[in-house]
Amino acid sequence: MTDADKIKLTILPTGTMHADLVWLLIDPARMASRDNRERLRDWVELPTHVVYIEHPSGKKLLWDAGVPRDWDTRWAAPGFNEVFPVDTVTEDMWLDSRLKQLDLEPGDIDYLMLSHLHLDHAANAQLWANTGTTIVVDEEEKKGAFSFDGYNLGAHIKSDYDGLELTTINEDTEILPGITLLRTPGHTWGTLSMKVDLADSGTMIFASDSLYRRESYGPPATAAGIVYDTVSWFASVEKIRSVAEQTGATVVFGHDDEQIKNLKTGVGNYYT
Ligand SMILES: [Zn+2]
Repeated sequence: MTDADKIKLTILPTGTMHADLVWLLIDPARMASRDNRERLRDWVELPTHVVYIEHPSGKKLLWDAGVPRDWDTRWAAPGFNEVFPVDTVTEDMWLDSRLKQLDLEPGDIDYLMLSHLHLDHAANAQLWANTGTTIVVDEEEKKGAFSFDGYNLGAHIKSDYDGLELTTINEDTEILPGITLLRTPGHTWGTLSMKVDLADSGTMIFASDSLYRRESYGPPATAAGIVYDTVSWFASVEKIRSVAEQTGATVVFGHDDEQIKNLKTGVGNYYT
């Protein structure tokens, strides 16, 4: 097998948010207690990333769409600019910069796969308006994301995705040979994970917010603050665990500041 026959996968950090860890992890050991009512909160780094994939068929795919340059204004109405500030990001990390580094226009991407439509994953999806790119989301995510009136419902900001043609899936779906979207709902109505089978690096599962961080994975899994449906969130974690065990996969968490340091990232540092 030559390199031309292999899937090439690049993890691209797109900027780091900070937030109180309680949004992501309900951990009794970190809570205020009788003896420590004034316990300081954990203000943690939450890196974000997208994944760019070149498939041997010639197709190009992108997993997620990163955080927006104008987060401070776009997130102001619901107050998310204060609780999830994107305050650690360099010019080269914004998604439009990443596309330039790859020498790509948005329309060069054949499939934009969105794990879910939260403001830190779908924010730049409007770059793909009328480009001919197939934008894939879970059917339940699309339903939920249009189920409300007004600017936002929690971390769903309708203008991030309103007006886009969204192609939906309602079962685990192999998009191209070796690239499968797994339904892992719970964090939102229809959060997806992406499984990629690589020739040299083995299987990688990109869990997005179905698994924010290693602390969430366990075992046992630890529940998160922002979860739409806790029962299905736990079931989805165990689904990921079972696929990972069957395939020996590396599970890549959605916002893990330790793990991302130990992964190959950036243009040119790809996995095959
Ligand atoms: Zn999310």
